[in-house]
Amino acid sequence: MKQKIRGKPLVYLDNAATSQKPQIVLDTLLRYYTAQNSNVHRGVHFLSEQATKEYEDARNKVRRFINAAEEREIVFVRGTTEAINLVADSYGRQNVRAGDEVVISAMEHHSNIVPWQMLCQEKGAVLRVVPINDAGELLLEEYERLLTPKTRLVAMAHVSNALGSINPVRRIVELAHRQNIPVLIDGAQAVPHARVDVRDLNCDFYAFSGHKVFGPTGIGVLYGKATRLEAMPPYQGGGDMISSVTFEKTTYNKIPYKFEAGTPNIAGVIGLGSAIDYLTSIRLDAASAHENELLEYATNAISQISGIRLVGTAREKSAIVSFVVDGLHPHDIGTILDQEGIAVRTGHHCAQPVMDRFGVPATVRASLALYNTREDIDALVSGLRKVSEVFG
Ligand code: PMP
Repeated sequence: MKQKIRGKPLVYLDNAATSQKPQIVLDTLLRYYTAQNSNVHRGVHFLSEQATKEYEDARNKVRRFINAAEEREIVFVRGTTEAINLVADSYGRQNVRAGDEVVISAMEHHSNIVPWQMLCQEKGAVLRVVPINDAGELLLEEYERLLTPKTRLVAMAHVSNALGSINPVRRIVELAHRQNIPVLIDGAQAVPHARVDVRDLNCDFYAFSGHKVFGPTGIGVLYGKATRLEAMPPYQGGGDMISSVTFEKTTYNKIPYKFEAGTPNIAGVIGLGSAIDYLTSIRLDAASAHENELLEYATNAISQISGIRLVGTAREKSAIVSFVVDGLHPHDIGTILDQEGIAVRTGHHCAQPVMDRFGVPATVRASLALYNTREDIDALVSGLRKVSEVFG
């Protein structure tokens, strides 16, 4: 993070895409590969036992971090995308039939749209989309209207990656549960910014990615209530997910192993455990307060620049500022900012329906993390002023 980009100090404002890694995570990965590398749940030898212990300790860290009731409710997957695909493939294919409905919102990331679309196509089911208002807030009354006896599942973002809107997920779950409809929450953009308590939310499934929460890439978490996971068929077949195999019949392992076929991302899991240690040590609630203060500072400063329109002005917002500038393509803005060493994301943010909703092809998105400072925002604002000069 200390390096220079194009001769300028790096200002990293693309944290919603992926976060930078603290030293403790890097040290853990190095230690694991140099001194502990071994497969898990197999050998009786020392290294394998040690790797297995660290792997399972990390599961417990995740459990505590999101306040799940039991370790077996924590399934390690590749990321949010795989977690959602797992639920669509296993729970979805088991429970969704022709004419049934799956409810999502208009602010979902493609990874919380496409798996449901694929499922609906296969089953002849219907995808229902809860609309949002001009500020980027979910229309709760519309949501309530869309919950019917045909609804088999609700899948909803906790925080929108394109707009920053925070959804009232507790209420979303409560309303669905009144009709015995299970709810999956896509927590990819929520977990890095505020404490998540899955028991308080009472959701059936919760998904997030390690790499957005200061951990390694290629690792993520699916939380599922034990009763739900137990009733679901396996997602992938292979080693570790079985308890016995003959050519006639295979019996499956208990949860969570039923959903962890093959050699898992052991280093990733242990590295994620360290990222959680890091977040626990710095106190996530203090980091949240810092980010909220920065968000307000950034929103005020950016909205004062002439020609800028903010996209996403929800009352409840997380650390994301998305905007467009009159007459300029976001990619041109991103390229000029890059010349200043400022990393922002430009594009549709894997949320094309959100762009359609706001009538723009793309936005510029500055997304904050706990290590960002007011100086970073000042650099962005002066970079944006340069953009106006270049094109002005
Ligand atoms: N959902 C949201 C809200 C996201 O922001 C992202 C990542 N941009 C994802 C899902 C997908 O996460 P991953 O690519 O880590 O699987």
